[in-house]
Amino acid sequence: MKVLVTGGAGFIGSHLCDLLISAGHHAVAFDDLSTGTLENVAHLSGHPLFSFVRADIRDARAVEGAMASCDAVVHLAARIGLKIIVESPLETIEVNARGTETVLEVASRRRVRTIVASTSEVYGHSTRIPSAESDPICFGSPTIGRWSYACAKAYDEFYALALHQERGLPAIVVRLFNTVGPRQTGRYGMVIPRFVTQALAGEPLTVYGDGTQTRCFCSVDDVVGALLAMLERSDVAVGQVFNIGNPEETSIESLAKLVIEMTGSASGIRYVPFSDAYPVGFEEIMRRVPNIDKARELLGFSPRSTLRSILDDVIASVDRRERTA
Ligand code: UDP
Repeated sequence: MKVLVTGGAGFIGSHLCDLLISAGHHAVAFDDLSTGTLENVAHLSGHPLFSFVRADIRDARAVEGAMASCDAVVHLAARIGLKIIVESPLETIEVNARGTETVLEVASRRRVRTIVASTSEVYGHSTRIPSAESDPICFGSPTIGRWSYACAKAYDEFYALALHQERGLPAIVVRLFNTVGPRQTGRYGMVIPRFVTQALAGEPLTVYGDGTQTRCFCSVDDVVGALLAMLERSDVAVGQVFNIGNPEETSIESLAKLVIEMTGSASGIRYVPFSDAYPVGFEEIMRRVPNIDKARELLGFSPRSTLRSILDDVIASVDRRERTA
């Protein structure tokens, strides 16, 4: 296969390019380098199965050109990270809704197999835990900036499924839960790279609120494996929505303690009130757990990594990066 990976120089996208190439496929990374970096794909530069296009997904001609000879698209490009979302709502909506429309319209005209990356954020304040794909979703008010991200992604889901239904786009929607691993940066707020960097620097770990909120962390290797499985099993995957995540649930406070233990750091914990941690326009989600029965049954998805093994990898990679910096 030749696969267009939008957001291909980002954290998940670059790992997907690695996996595609190691499986003998051609990866075309398409990225505007707004949050992705050339460093993430530097090791692939010059590889005969890799090419890179620097462009914006709102640029229909660039998308058209990059998709021209591709058999599939994995659409990961998006504005991400709570800080960017809350501070740049217009850009978030334009890229995450309008940019996705552009990618999907081109894919639809070409009838190219398409995976659209959605997010566990779409469950919002849903009280059904663990959350399954058919559960109702529950957003906060549009006056709270955070929800523009979930809302744009939910719109992307509707649009992909509508193009599938009415125009035969072979579309698959994937709701990614918290995904972690090497190359993820803490710059946009993500908790694990932040805690590991803080612990290795001997600084206090910044637990927001009282740390009783929970998340489930899935390794990026498990996630990109699931994306490839969806492309390979498009006979069962097309027209479906899948949760992809690891149901192992942990509180943020116990995550901080585990990072301190595993790094052997002398750091302590600093509890930061949400009002100090985030700009206005924030509402915390207190619990988020995926129900992955559907991906398990239809795709044989079974996350292999544990939180400890993920942290081992992240600690080693942050350590390496700091040493070479
Ligand atoms: N968090 C934290 N300290 C940090 C960064 C994040 O306590 O330095 C918390 C955050 O409030 C949330 C969880 O960690 O409850 C996961 O945050 P992240 O931004 O990684 O993902 P998301 O909120 O999108 O699940």
